[in-house]
Amino acid sequence: MSIYFSPAFRDLVPYVPGEQPRDRAYLKLNTNESPFPPSQKAREAAALAAERLMLYPDPECTETRERIAALYGIRKENVVCTNGSDEALNFAFMAFCGPGTPAVFADITYGFYRVFADLYRLPFREVPLREDFSIDPADYADAGGTVFIANPNAPTGLYLTPDRIRAILEANPEHVVVVDEAYIDFGGTSAVPLIREYKNLLVVQTFSKSRSMAGARLGFAAGDEALIRDLQTLRYSTNPYNVNAMTLAAGAGALEDEAYTRSNCRTIMENRAFLTEALEKLGFAVLDSMTNFVFAKHPEIGGEELYLALKARGILVRHFQKERISAYNRITVGTRADMETLVQTLGEILGQHRRRNG
Ligand code: PMP
Repeated sequence: MSIYFSPAFRDLVPYVPGEQPRDRAYLKLNTNESPFPPSQKAREAAALAAERLMLYPDPECTETRERIAALYGIRKENVVCTNGSDEALNFAFMAFCGPGTPAVFADITYGFYRVFADLYRLPFREVPLREDFSIDPADYADAGGTVFIANPNAPTGLYLTPDRIRAILEANPEHVVVVDEAYIDFGGTSAVPLIREYKNLLVVQTFSKSRSMAGARLGFAAGDEALIRDLQTLRYSTNPYNVNAMTLAAGAGALEDEAYTRSNCRTIMENRAFLTEALEKLGFAVLDSMTNFVFAKHPEIGGEELYLALKARGILVRHFQKERISAYNRITVGTRADMETLVQTLGEILGQHRRRNG
């Protein structure tokens, strides 16, 4: 830390992204990336946009917003494009929380919520997940602040049906409810259409997972026009060109190829079923995932030990050194071949572990 660093940020504990080591080739199952390349249409559109990089991008993100709006039957005024969905969340914390309006989120959820709360020195309240890691909407009745719900939740993978989201919205008419749908395309039903009914609903989505564009950094928030105008005010006050021209074009291209996205999501869901069954056969307890990852623990081997054993064999998964979940690992669902490699390696690790422990 330099002597010049603002005292406001000296205690800040930054978000730690999943490791991206370069020391050797790993089977990367730790950051929930897609194993499939982006759509050909996305790549072609980005290449065309590259020829015009001497120009600033469209600050209104018109075409991409129109395509997102068309996908969900809403209007472009209901959509704001962001640099990854992390930026949409950033704007939401900035816009809708403050003194007297704490951020309210689960004790086990996406780690960035806590970081944003700290960054802006916002009051926040963590609502414990139930014993089985589920979210009970009753725990969010009159939450007394801006609610952030990852649906499906991360890293558990558990999903709330739209009627449960409705229950949370109806129990908090005075506050914004942000539904973070980073993983919604892997079997869930999006709450985006509900923005017509609920003026307090903001839905955040990303192109990083189902559309294979994590490297491009494209996300969006959808909500009532007034909510979106608030976020646009913050966007224009920080970085009006927050999404670069190649990414905007790639996003629009990807949305021309929804059949490709849907087919990839179906494959991931099939591979998830295969992986879940194989893990259970090996003795793992696996939570019921509606995402492109599974959250699993084994009764005989600790979470960190397993993470390290996999890493030593060239497979990266994500382990969280956190109360309640330290026995688990979060494993990204990849190709069928990736899953077979993983299952075989896990079998070897468990075999060795049993021999060593008698
Ligand atoms: N929300 C959740 C629940 C996530 O797991 C992630 C991915 N780390 C994000 C948002 C952010 O994704 P991105 O910024 O790539 O859109």
